Parts: sequence; C-alpha cells; structure tokens
Amino acid sequence: MHRIARNRLAAALVVCLALTGSAVSTRAQDSEATTAAKLRDAALKDGWGYRFLEGLTTEIGQRLAGTPAEARAAVWAEKALKAAGFDTVERESFPMTAWLRGEETASVVAPAPQALVVTALGGSVATPKQGVTAEIALFRRYSDLLAAAPQSLAGKIAVVTQRMPRVMDGGAYGAANPIRRKGPSEAAKRGAVAYLLRSLGTDNHRLAHAGATNYEADAPRIPAAALSNPDADQLERLAARGKVTVHLVLTPHSEENARSWTVSAQLNGSARPDEIVLIGAHLDSWDLGTGAIDDGAGDAIVAAAGRLIAQLKTRPKRSLRVVLFGAEEMDYSGPAYAKAHAAEVPHIVLAAESDFGARKIYAWQKPIGSAKTGFVATLADTLTPLEIFLAPQPALRSGDDIAPLRKLGVPVIAMRQNGLDYFDIHHTADDTFDKIDRAELDQNIAAWAAMAYLAAQSDLDFRKLAADAER
Ligand code: ZN
Ligand code: ZN
Repeated sequence: MHRIARNRLAAALVVCLALTGSAVSTRAQDSEATTAAKLRDAALKDGWGYRFLEGLTTEIGQRLAGTPAEARAAVWAEKALKAAGFDTVERESFPMTAWLRGEETASVVAPAPQALVVTALGGSVATPKQGVTAEIALFRRYSDLLAAAPQSLAGKIAVVTQRMPRVMDGGAYGAANPIRRKGPSEAAKRGAVAYLLRSLGTDNHRLAHAGATNYEADAPRIPAAALSNPDADQLERLAARGKVTVHLVLTPHSEENARSWTVSAQLNGSARPDEIVLIGAHLDSWDLGTGAIDDGAGDAIVAAAGRLIAQLKTRPKRSLRVVLFGAEEMDYSGPAYAKAHAAEVPHIVLAAESDFGARKIYAWQKPIGSAKTGFVATLADTLTPLEIFLAPQPALRSGDDIAPLRKLGVPVIAMRQNGLDYFDIHHTADDTFDKIDRAELDQNIAAWAAMAYLAAQSDLDFRKLAADAER
C-alpha cells in the first residue's frame, strides 16, 4: 500500500475509533479530571440514588435505632449495595440500649384547658402513669434557666421557649443543642419535675421535633419533651397573663441488650488497597417520619456516588468505603465504629459524611493543609458547573458519625448544603420522601461522586498534610 494511503487509513481508523467512542482506549487515556467530570455528568441523569431513597423510605420506613425496623433497613441496604457492584459488602452489629416511644400527651389544665402538641425526647424517662400535673416556670432564654437559683423550680415543669434562628449552614442547631441535650438535667438540678422545650425547629407547623437528650449523673432524671413551635408560642402568651398549670404524660421505655447495625460497602483500590477513603451517612432515623431527609438522603448520596465509581472500568488507586452507620440519633454510631475499626483507623486517609438533607450543595471545604494541591484545583473545577464554590476555610468537621475518626487524626472534607428549610422538617413526622427534589439530590450525588473518585485516585497524603498544618 502507498505510504500516504496507509497514513490516511490509519488516520481514518483513529477518527472512526473516536467517533464510536471506543470505550477501552479512550477510558484508559482519560485524565482524572475527565473521569471526575464524566462521573459528575452521569450522576445528573442516573436516578439510582433517588430510587434507593424511595425504596428505603417505602419498603422500610422509619428506622429507630436498636429496633427491628433498623435491623430490617440494614438487611435492605446490604442487598441494595451488593446489587450495586461493590467488591465487598458487610453488615456489622454492636450493642446499645434502645429507647422506645410510648404515649405522649400534654395539655394546659388551667387557666384555659387545651391540648398541646409534644414529643418525648430520645432517652427521656417516663412520667408516672397518671402523668405529671404542675405549674410551669417559663424561660424565654435558656440562659435565664441557667441563672435560676437552686430549688427555685421545686415542683414545677420548666419550659424553655428560646427560638432557633433559620440559617443556611444550620449553625444555629449546634448553638441551640444544649437546650435539648442538657436542659432536662439543668432544670432537675433546680428542682423541676419535668422539662419542656420549644422544638429545635424553624417551622410554624403544629409538629414537635424529636431528638435525643443526655442526663447528667448528678441530677435527677426528669421526663422531657419538645413542644411544637405554635404550642411554645401559646405557653408564652398564657404565661404572660399569669399562672399556667400543665399536665404531661410520657410513657417511653428503654430496652437494654438491643443491637444496632452498620452496613459498609467497599471498592478495593487498584494500587494501594490498604489506604481507605471513607464516605458515610447514617441509616437509622427518628420514628415519627420515614427518615427521608435525615438521613435516608445521605445514604442515597454516598451509596449512589460509590455505585457510579464502581461502574468505572478501573478501580481508583485507593479503596473507597461507603459506610451507612447505625444508631447515630442515639449517639452510638461514631464511637462504636471507631472502636470496632481501631486497627484500621490509621489507614483511613480521608473521611466525609452527608447528613444534612437533600438540598443543593453550595460550597465545599477542602481537607486541612491541602490548599495548594492539584486535588483541590481539579475538584474545584469539577464542581464549578454544579454551582458549588470552594469555601475559604478548611473542613474541621463533616458529620457526627466520623467525628471520632477526626479526633483520631483522620482529615475530613465537607460538602455544604443549603439548610435554610432543613430544620422545618428535621426530626418531625413531616420527614417523608415527598420532600425530596430529585434534581437537587442528583446534584449532591454528582458532587460526591467526583469528590470521592478524585480523593481515592489521589496520591496526596492527606493525613500528613493535615498533621503538618495542625502542628
Ligand atoms: Zn437527626
Ligand atoms: Zn442525621
């Protein structure tokens, strides 16, 4: 064959291969940035995460920690992850004390009898069977309760009606948390016989927000519940007019020797399988809704991100582990995982958690010490089309389940979601699948898939960068 003709034929073959998309050769040549962009774009059309969340919230529903429902969810998730193409899928359990809701009613007895909407705080003890009837001592600020003298609340029901502001990053929740976590013990130390707080919620619906409380060892354990926002308003108005007597009945109980379950799925690294990038969410939920935004959405996001990476021709260099933690709402998950995997913790190079609903991500935070790296530059470029900007501050935390890992030296990366309406439905009966916007969920999956892939493919020693930066 004439040389020019032969060259033309070769050129034509190259064009032909390119036009038919010749999967093998082009994929092998893809740069990491191109692969990350492909994962991002595939996620926006994929739909698997949305179906996962629909399945979890429909076929299982609520997943209260330590209950048969949570155990069923773990089996369900194990099956879904096995079908998603991970190399290994494991279900592990750990002991916990389960807390089960009972009857929960409250009413104003005087001066104007009327019902109040309440929900018991997780971990709360029960009232006597006939309930507690007492005059209330109402505090519009939590600090006013803390300033109350010892025994000044003797025989009373303490009520704290401080409002939690609505903010995009959800930061007000952390600030308000002591009102729920510590309020019952602080009230008990001052003689109170029961405790009510305005729900840690930003809505004006007549639904109370659940959430755990923690009794202190040196205070009597008193029954504690959250009021819906409108009911907290009502008590404020009544208290401004004079004495108010409230009747409260709570009949929860605890079950020792219960078990919770964590499900993890892994893609084994192609070059350095002993180095682990961990992305997680929590599988348990409160029992009032079906745990769609908290945290079924997070489960769907990290599972779908992992599944997309599983579909690549080649595994990333490092192992990628997707962990769906059990019993986050009851504070067991993070410590249980760090303890069970203590020997592995030094090999976890980076961790991240999705536990803030399903609204769009608007910013991300790089791992500490990684500012001037190609990893950060490539990820920033990949996320720009999703309207996600690189926040100036590095990530200091990224979810409660991985907080113990963080303390043990694992650096974290964080995706910041728009949380303006998160606390409207968080921990309420309204946390159901209809609240999920598929396009927004897909945007999350796109960002997580790109991030997890680039982190697992990276040669950066995130642990060393973090340790150097924090020294
Ligand atoms: Zn929660
Ligand atoms: Zn959560």
